[in-house]
Amino acid sequence: MPQTIVYKDQVYDITDETEEHTTKDGRLVQLRRIRSHCARCGELFDFWLSENVLTTGRPWLSRRCDRHKAQGIKVHQHCLGSPEDQEVMFQLGR
Ligand SMILES: [Zn+2]
Repeated sequence: MPQTIVYKDQVYDITDETEEHTTKDGRLVQLRRIRSHCARCGELFDFWLSENVLTTGRPWLSRRCDRHKAQGIKVHQHCLGSPEDQEVMFQLGR
């Protein structure tokens, strides 16, 4: 069952799509596809997030689509989780 989380007034759908990913140090993590609408243009976009990160309650959530993401990097840099968390967050196939 998809769940929904709300972070800073932005709604994120946690889909039931998962994928396994091996980190650089060989740990296997489960990724979950998250969907949301861009905070800037409203376009639907998605990204993958480690389920570990979701359950620790400190998820890094992208607020913008690919087109507008770069403009938000400065905003997000100070609130990223540990380097370990960051490693498993990536845009699939981009
Ligand atoms: Zn956008």
